[in-house]
Amino acid sequence: MKRTTGTDRSITAKWRPATRAVRGGTWRSEQGETSEALFLTSGFSYDNAETAAARFRGEDPGMTYSRLQNPTVAMLEERIALLDGAEACRVQASGMAAMTAALLCQLSQGDHVVAGRAAFGSCRWLVDQLFPRFGIEATTIDARDNAQWEAAIRPNTKVFFFETPANPTMDIVDLKYVCDLARSRGIITVVDNAFATPALQRPIEWGADVVAYSATKLMDGQGRVLAGAVSGSADFINNVLLPFQRNTGPNLAPFNAWVVLKGLETLDLRVRQQSANALKVGQFLEGRVKAINHPGLPSHPQYELAVKQMDACGSIFSFEVEDRAQAHGLLNALQLVDISNNIGDARSLMCHNASTTHYSVSAEAREEMGVTEGMLRLNVGLEDPDDIIEDLDQALKAVGL
Ligand SMILES: *Cc1c(COP(=O)(O)O)cnc(C)c1O
Repeated sequence: MKRTTGTDRSITAKWRPATRAVRGGTWRSEQGETSEALFLTSGFSYDNAETAAARFRGEDPGMTYSRLQNPTVAMLEERIALLDGAEACRVQASGMAAMTAALLCQLSQGDHVVAGRAAFGSCRWLVDQLFPRFGIEATTIDARDNAQWEAAIRPNTKVFFFETPANPTMDIVDLKYVCDLARSRGIITVVDNAFATPALQRPIEWGADVVAYSATKLMDGQGRVLAGAVSGSADFINNVLLPFQRNTGPNLAPFNAWVVLKGLETLDLRVRQQSANALKVGQFLEGRVKAINHPGLPSHPQYELAVKQMDACGSIFSFEVEDRAQAHGLLNALQLVDISNNIGDARSLMCHNASTTHYSVSAEAREEMGVTEGMLRLNVGLEDPDDIIEDLDQALKAVGL
């Protein structure tokens, strides 16, 4: 295997994001293949016993076992690290494997976490259900309110954990303020950047310590595989995350890593086009529905902050109709847009969060975070936006809107 210029940080440092997304991290075999090779292997063999021993001592750079290293997986890790502007990255089997590893690798009994209350259902489950079983305390706050972050800090606060934009309320967190506050108190920030991706928002540039992803979403971008990623400093990734990951094994399969590598080649193009489409669809819906939570529209209460820290609004937003019956009626009248709880796909997808993605969150917690009974979340795909608008128009008429 030969590394290409895509693995030389002195060269990639000068590349713009779209170039990094296509070429970052590439290694080539002696065949000189242009597309990244898929190393579908669990193990590696050695020329002799001394080499095997040297690899386990860390003195020979070769690979030993795919739970520890794999060439296809390593290419993806370097590519995502470059996109994030991070020293290092490790990938996991799903977004939730990434979140769990990023948090549990550094938390112990007696630690305290402050988390944004508007969050993906399973992220809330980690905070509300799993942490208490291991003696980790958590406080959930309105992450839009900078003062609540400071007020929630305790002497044992170890981690700040939040999403921006948040799923599905589209709350925006002030990255610079929250990351600066954390750093001044010796607290580690873990930012779930699934909605924006590094194509639109790079939390490390605003001072974040750790960035975690569901790469299932816009990084794959075509609805094929589950994947997750965690980026951060070399010290965090190698000394804190890796011992946890290598021994607990939430690894990403090489095939899925290869699919995400292919997805990243078009990340920049897709995310920008889907953002433009989502803006057009949002402009159509505004005024027609009861409320809209869309960071690309000036009506979003944090529009200026979104514009400051994101390059574009992203493909996802939510809106509200009267109640659950009207929301379900609207979904059932769709002809083009699919009813699906997935997001980040090249297809337009819509779901009713209270009865699906946030079903496992208690009704009180849903109400507190703003996931109402009439809320629908829309991922705008790569179809012609006028076709999406026509479909929404006929579905809205079908429910009397
Ligand atoms: C989907 C999602 C996750 C979980 O990712 P999976 O790949 O489904 O495990 C975590 N956080 C956010 C914000 C998500 O949208």
